[in-house]
Amino acid sequence: MYEKTGNIIKLARESNTSAIAFICMDYVMARTVVYAAEKTNTPAIVMLYPEHVPVQHTTGFRGFATAVKELAGEVKVPIGLHCDHDYTYEAIMNTIDCGFESVMMDGSMNDLDTNIALTKKVVDKAHELGAIVEGEIGHVGLAADADQNREDLFTKPDAAEKFCRETGVDTLAVSIGNAHGEYKETPHLDIQRLEDIRNATDVPLVLHGGSGIPDDQLLVAFSKGINKFNLGTDFLRNYFKALTEFTAEYADVADPVRVINMPEYVQAKLQPYVEDRLKTLCRF
Ligand SMILES: [Zn+2]
Repeated sequence: MYEKTGNIIKLARESNTSAIAFICMDYVMARTVVYAAEKTNTPAIVMLYPEHVPVQHTTGFRGFATAVKELAGEVKVPIGLHCDHDYTYEAIMNTIDCGFESVMMDGSMNDLDTNIALTKKVVDKAHELGAIVEGEIGHVGLAADADQNREDLFTKPDAAEKFCRETGVDTLAVSIGNAHGEYKETPHLDIQRLEDIRNATDVPLVLHGGSGIPDDQLLVAFSKGINKFNLGTDFLRNYFKALTEFTAEYADVADPVRVINMPEYVQAKLQPYVEDRLKTLCRF
């Protein structure tokens, strides 16, 4: 069933665990998450990366939100919907208008006061419209640039407290040794910093850049305040692998219209990966 992402995060917090938000670029990936969640009886969040819409034309905002809610209605387990990194008030208002009740305002590339001002404006209007907002402080950079080692980008606990208090954000993405994309070496989360941030604010915390962080580190982080965990790169890699298997298996098929078998084939190959992540990492 469709459930507001805020309620899934609340449930995760009460269970001292994290919900996983999977970046989905299309219907096949979204359907895979929904049915993996149902099979493992674990709530999950389908997440759209908004840049994929105008740049890669993977889907449309309104169409995707509608499709995910329809899919969620096919199962009993709670399924949330969230839109990842957006950078402007206008983009986020459009996303909310298209049916997203959970959005991210990423002002983390600005100085603290500018980030607070931009995020607060979004939060005030989003709350009026019944949506929740994830903010970011410190900056989660790129694994390709080894940004996970740059302590100057890490979230400072006192700044996190001020940011949450002044903006009214519902969740907060933190930078504690994580980065987006493929890590070149094993990252090490700064768990002490995470504990300090958690002690500084009551707002549920979010971990981005999840692909490649060892499971044992993730489980510790989930027990210390991370209640939403974003998974993108790894999921996309597994999607690509499943597509490759489909094209190999169907290469000699005489009837090219058999491409119609692709979504179901790929979902069957991809779903065990999502089930494994939900079973291994979530403790609802
Ligand atoms: Zn991110």
